[in-house]
Amino acid sequence: LSDPLVLGPLQERLKRLESIQWRAEPTFPAEEPGEIAPITMPHDLTVEVGTRRDATAEEVDAAYARAEAIQPGWDALGGDRRALLLEEAANQFEAHTDEFLSLCQREAGKTLLDGVAELREAVDFLRYYAAEARRQFDEPLYLPGPTGEENTLRMHGRGVFATISPWNFPLAIFIGMASAALAAGNAVITKPAEQTPLTAALAVKLMHHAGIPPEVLQLLPGAGEVGQLITSDPRVAGVAFTGSTETARLINQSLAGRDGPIATLIAETGGQNAMIVDSSALPEQVVRDVLASAFQSAGQRCSALRVLYLQDDVADDMLAMIRGGFEALHVGDPADLATDVGPVIDPDAQAALERHVARSIASERNVARCFMPEGTDKGCYVAPTIIEVDSILDLNRENFGPVLHVARFKSEDLGQVVADINATGYGLTLGLHSRIAATRRYVQARAKVGNFYVNRNQIGAIVESQPFGGEGLSGTGPKAGGPNYLARFATERVTC
Ligand code: ADP
Repeated sequence: LSDPLVLGPLQERLKRLESIQWRAEPTFPAEEPGEIAPITMPHDLTVEVGTRRDATAEEVDAAYARAEAIQPGWDALGGDRRALLLEEAANQFEAHTDEFLSLCQREAGKTLLDGVAELREAVDFLRYYAAEARRQFDEPLYLPGPTGEENTLRMHGRGVFATISPWNFPLAIFIGMASAALAAGNAVITKPAEQTPLTAALAVKLMHHAGIPPEVLQLLPGAGEVGQLITSDPRVAGVAFTGSTETARLINQSLAGRDGPIATLIAETGGQNAMIVDSSALPEQVVRDVLASAFQSAGQRCSALRVLYLQDDVADDMLAMIRGGFEALHVGDPADLATDVGPVIDPDAQAALERHVARSIASERNVARCFMPEGTDKGCYVAPTIIEVDSILDLNRENFGPVLHVARFKSEDLGQVVADINATGYGLTLGLHSRIAATRRYVQARAKVGNFYVNRNQIGAIVESQPFGGEGLSGTGPKAGGPNYLARFATERVTC
C-alpha cells in the first residue's frame, strides 16, 4: 500500500467519492418513515457523510413475514447454489473497493490500511463460508446402521436468523455474521450499529446485486431499540451478535422471554486483553507488537491489548523503548497516509476514555500521552495514552480505545498474573513474549482465553487459519472464520 504508484491514483479516486451523500434505509421501506439521523465523520463532526432512516415496528414485523415465507426455498437451494451467490457477492465487493475504503474512512474513521484489511477479511469470510456451505450443506452425511440400513443426516437452516453488529468492523463483522447465517440456509434480518449503517447498506445492496433475493437478506437500520424489537420477535430462530457483554445479556433475556422457539445465541463480546513479556523476550519485537496490538485501529479492536505485564528486571528498559515508539505515533486524519492512529468512533467513546484517563491522573498513576497535532479538536480524537497500574484487576471495565496499561511482575509471580487475568472473567485474547518453551506451556495450560498469541502481535482474526472468538464474559463461541461456525446456525435432520 505504501507504493506511491498505488497510492497516488487511489487517493485521487477516493477524493472523487467525497461528494456522495450515502443513505441507509430498510430494504423494503414502508410509507411511514421512521426517524432520520445524520451520520457524521468521526474525524470532523461538522461533515455529514449521509443519513440513516430507522426501521419502524411495522417494518420489523413485515420483514419477519417476508423472511419466514422465503426461507424454506432458500434452504432448499442447497449449499452449492448458495455458495455460488456468496462468491459472486465477494467479486462484487472487490469490484467496489474504492467505495468501501471511502466509507470505512469517512463513516468509521478507519485508516486506509485498516480499510484494506477490513475489506479483505469480509471477502475472505464470504468465500470461506461459501466453501463451508458446499462441504457441510450439500450432500447428506450417510450413517450406516448395524443391519446395513442407510440413515442420513442433513444440515438445514434454522429459520429466520437476526444479526446485530458493532461499529468497529462495520464491514467484516457485519458481513461475516450475515454470510454465515445465509450460507447455512437461513433468511437473515440484519441490523448494523447505529454509527455505521452506510457501509452495511452498500454491502447489502451488493449482496442483492449478486443474486441473493432481497427477502432473504433484509437490512433494518436503527439503534438499540430496533435491535430490541428484532430480538424479541417470536419468529426469530437465532441471533448472532457482536458487541458488549451487557447487550448480549439483554438479548439473552429477550430471547428467553418470547413465546417462540428456543433460539440460539451466538455472541462475541468484549475483552480485557493482556500480554505477558518475560526477560527472555526480544525487545525490538516486543516494541513492534505492543504498539500494533494496543494502538492499531485506535485500539478499537476486540482483540486489542489493554494490559501489558513486563517482568520487573527488564521492565524499565522495555518501557523506555516502548515509549520511544509510542511518542513517534502519528495521530490524525485517517485520510492522511502517514497516520497511525485515527479518531475514536463518537463523542461518547471519547468522553468515556477521557474520564478514565482523568481518574488515573487523579489517583496519581504514571500517565504518558502522545502529542496531538492541530485540527484534531474537530473530531473524536483521544491522544494515545500509557497508564501504569499494579494489576489487571485495577481496571473494572473495558477501555475501548488507544489506552494501554502497564504492570510489572516478578518471575515467581507468573502463576498469580495468569490467575488475575483469568479472574477478570473475560477470555478473549492473551499475548506472550517469551523464548522459554516451559513458560509457553505453563501459560497455555492455565489461561482461559479463546486466542493465545505467542511472540507476535495480537490483532484479531485470520479467516480459516486463525479463527477468532472468546469464552466467559467474552462470548459463546464457536470461532468466527473456523470450521465449526456454520453448524451453530443450522439444525440437523436425520432420516432413518
Ligand atoms: P458497543 O459498546 O460496541 O457500541 P453495544 O452492545 O452497545 O456495543 O452495540 C452493539 C450492537 O447492539 C449495536 O448494533 C447496537 O445497536 C445493538 N444493541 C444495543 N442495545 C441493544 C438491545 N437492547 N437489543 C438488541 N440490540 C442492541
